[in-house]
Amino acid sequence: MAKQPPFRYDAEVDPGDVRHIRYEISETYLGDPVEVPVTIINGEHDGPVVYITAALHGDELNGVKVVQEVADRYTPSEIHGTLVCIHVCNVPGYLAQQRYIPIYDLDLNRSFPGKAQSNTAERMANAIYSTFIKQCDLGIDLHTSTRNRTTMYHVRADMANPAVKRLARSFGSNLILSGDADGSSLRSVATTDGIPTITVEMGKAHSFQPALIDRALHGIESVLAEYELLPGEPVTWPGWTKVIDSAKDKTWLRADTGGLVDMQYEHPLVYEGDTICTITNHFKTREKIVTAPFTGLLVGVLQNPVAAPGHPLCHLVSVDEATVREIEREIESGEFTEQAWV
Ligand SMILES: [Zn+2]
Repeated sequence: MAKQPPFRYDAEVDPGDVRHIRYEISETYLGDPVEVPVTIINGEHDGPVVYITAALHGDELNGVKVVQEVADRYTPSEIHGTLVCIHVCNVPGYLAQQRYIPIYDLDLNRSFPGKAQSNTAERMANAIYSTFIKQCDLGIDLHTSTRNRTTMYHVRADMANPAVKRLARSFGSNLILSGDADGSSLRSVATTDGIPTITVEMGKAHSFQPALIDRALHGIESVLAEYELLPGEPVTWPGWTKVIDSAKDKTWLRADTGGLVDMQYEHPLVYEGDTICTITNHFKTREKIVTAPFTGLLVGVLQNPVAAPGHPLCHLVSVDEATVREIEREIESGEFTEQAWV
């Protein structure tokens, strides 16, 4: 069996080695280094180079826990290929526990591939991208909902791209939202560069949600099996899969009135005409009932229970009859696990 080549950054990680690195991507006001924690697991046997990134948005923590576990779980003797685990990409945002890079509120995930001579975010993105991502064959970028909302566990991927489709399918989530990402996001830039990348959206910011973390670990294991980094492991397939690829199949329901939001649904599966939530004013003299315009899954839901006109309440995606029946069967049997995100 062929040997995996060394993984080269400023130094080298030999085949058969694990290296925990603190890689400098910027400096603080004090001139101290801003360092990204990275674990390189370079397998003894040759195979693809896979990256896993977390906390491009600094307060999205489920992925941070996933990367910690992945970096600890696999050894170079079992891996055929290389795992590049970037534990926290947006270090300044992570330290402040906020989404964007503090001070100028720059979005690191709108700054790829970045430039050496540009603003802070683009310099950081460039350091991460050119040093680590560019030498990978495929990747998984872990996110959660933005704060005050939560999202059902799902994958975002450009399913029109066959290489991305293979990756998204092998991750094994029930729900895949298909489409292009923003042009300067890591997913979009890497995919355009020939490094198929999917985004995983899981739950809410500022917390660890063990059920979702476990599912993502299974998903990653399944991807490693599909690409034969773990030749002995089986690829896992979910009970039902729904790919949403047209804008008419999904909608954000927004508040038309200000007030207190009371979520009413029992399951993320809601039927046309079901009450999803009510919005009442403080005197309870006015109540607005928000109903499902079509049968579907509540993929994203407001968590902060107050709303003003225009605020997003929930993200609803339509599901077809067959999928509805499969989900109903899972709800009945207790297999339906989409409760963890609530
Ligand atoms: Zn994010």
